[in-house]
Amino acid sequence: MSAGETLFDVAIIGAGINGAGIARDAAGRGLSVVILDAGDVGGATSSASTKLIHGGLRYLEFFAFGLVRKALAEREVLLDIAPHISWPQPFVLPHAAGMRPVWQLRLATLLYDHLARRVVVPGSERIDLRATRAGRALKPDYRTAFRYWDGWVDDARLVVENLKDAAARGALVLPRTTVSRADRRDGQWQLICGDGRRLAARQLVNAAGPWAGEVAQRVMGLNDAPQLKLVQGSHIVTRRVHLGRDAFMLQQPDGRIIFVLPYERDFSLIGTTETDVQAPGAASVTDGEVEYLLAAANRYLVRPLTAEDVVHRFAGVRPLVLEPGKGDRETSRDYHLVSHAGLDALSVVGGKITTYRVLAEDVLRRISPKSKPWTASAPLPGGAFERLPGEHGQAGFKRWLDQLQAREHHYDPAIIRRLAHTIGADAEQLLAGGLGHNLGGVFEAELDYFRRREWAQTSGDVLWRRTKLGLHLDSAAQAEVARWFGETPSDLKDIPAGHRFARPGLG
Ligand SMILES: Cc1cc2nc3c(=O)[nH]c(=O)nc-3n(C[C@H](O)[C@H](O)[C@H](O)COP(=O)(O)OP(=O)(O)OC[C@H]3O[C@@H](n4cnc5c(N)ncnc54)[C@H](O)[C@@H]3O)c2cc1C
Repeated sequence: MSAGETLFDVAIIGAGINGAGIARDAAGRGLSVVILDAGDVGGATSSASTKLIHGGLRYLEFFAFGLVRKALAEREVLLDIAPHISWPQPFVLPHAAGMRPVWQLRLATLLYDHLARRVVVPGSERIDLRATRAGRALKPDYRTAFRYWDGWVDDARLVVENLKDAAARGALVLPRTTVSRADRRDGQWQLICGDGRRLAARQLVNAAGPWAGEVAQRVMGLNDAPQLKLVQGSHIVTRRVHLGRDAFMLQQPDGRIIFVLPYERDFSLIGTTETDVQAPGAASVTDGEVEYLLAAANRYLVRPLTAEDVVHRFAGVRPLVLEPGKGDRETSRDYHLVSHAGLDALSVVGGKITTYRVLAEDVLRRISPKSKPWTASAPLPGGAFERLPGEHGQAGFKRWLDQLQAREHHYDPAIIRRLAHTIGADAEQLLAGGLGHNLGGVFEAELDYFRRREWAQTSGDVLWRRTKLGLHLDSAAQAEVARWFGETPSDLKDIPAGHRFARPGLG
């Protein structure tokens, strides 16, 4: 370590949900932490997921009871600690002729109900599609369905919430800082960043998601780099296909399932595909995938979707643990921690948004065995409004939002609601300070907040990750946001690509 260089207890490569969760947990246990990301925080897989807090009903088919149970238990925890960006989500699973029989669907949903403790997540039920609102969106041949519940979360915001708490507890967060080299010298890790910055840490966590293999091998120079299987998953956003809260889980003749979720009030989110890719940065939605998703939804929808209904598309890459001989569907979604023997270094492989917090606890158990877990009952910053004794976060959020709307009655309640569902508790301060100039659906005070408090540096960061305003603002308003960030007209044409999966190369 050279003179003046800070020695951190832990350096984390990658500020996706796993890195962010580890940073928060470690900082809260009193460790000094630095976390670096080559791009925007949460800018890779962790903003391109289906956004479900779920055990994974379909993983029951592969007898992955351990993973499903672990993930189901986390639903209640995440709904409690991040109630402003998550909610219980009902799913309608229609029975389709020639596919899984009714008894199998009933058995699976019942098992799902009983694998973990439920507090705010309701149990499943059999429904008659002819007598429910959801059924009106489907072709009349579909009559019987099962409604079961999981959770929904804004994935990109979950990353930022964890990082904000980590920073509040002393962590240094460095977005857009590629780690080009990490060398083990004199019992420490010396990190060299793409911008020439040098850092030192006692322990190193490689949480580079789909890049974890590459980082272990090329950046850390290890010969026991984890073997990853990279699977691209694509989503499309379309006009809203149905009213009501229900999402659909739709079985396909190829044995796969796709989800159609209510999204951002006016839209539906449809995904996902599974396509093997060789390189993590190479993912982008193909026309073939769009066709597949439209056909998969149209197999059920009474009012078919066309390519013209697609307003947005995005792809992410799942970093799965390589299990030779298994196909994409059967490969476990569980995470795997690889300790690099004698080097005070660990690589995180695989995982789900849903299990990021327990993954962080597992990592801390290894790198700081004497410290105690604390995150299961500690609300994230946006969820840290005053709660009544014993009150669940979901109920507390509704009560707090009602009170805020009543108190700030001079604002449009829809604006308060939007802000509350974005930054949660901090909306109080933002509203009290005044929102400033309206740039056409987004206010200057918000942009300032995202820049000062949430590491936003470009219009794309705000339009597609801190918010999903990219779906709602017209092009003039989006250009205003870009101008606010000092972007030039040539940057503006990149805005729609802001949510595409692309990363600066390593090195
Ligand atoms: C299509 C799809 C749908 C999914 N749906 C769900 C779902 O509904 N529910 C669920 O629970 N899970 C879901 N998942 C899984 C979940 O999204 C991932 O497991 C999770 O986001 C992985 O997070 P991560 O932090 O490991 O990786 P990432 O979010 O990819 O973060 C890794 C970070 O490392 C950074 N990085 C790489 N190299 C370097 C370097 N040299 N220096 C600095 N930084 C570097 C990258 O920039 C990146 O930001 C889905 C995944 C996909 C692909």
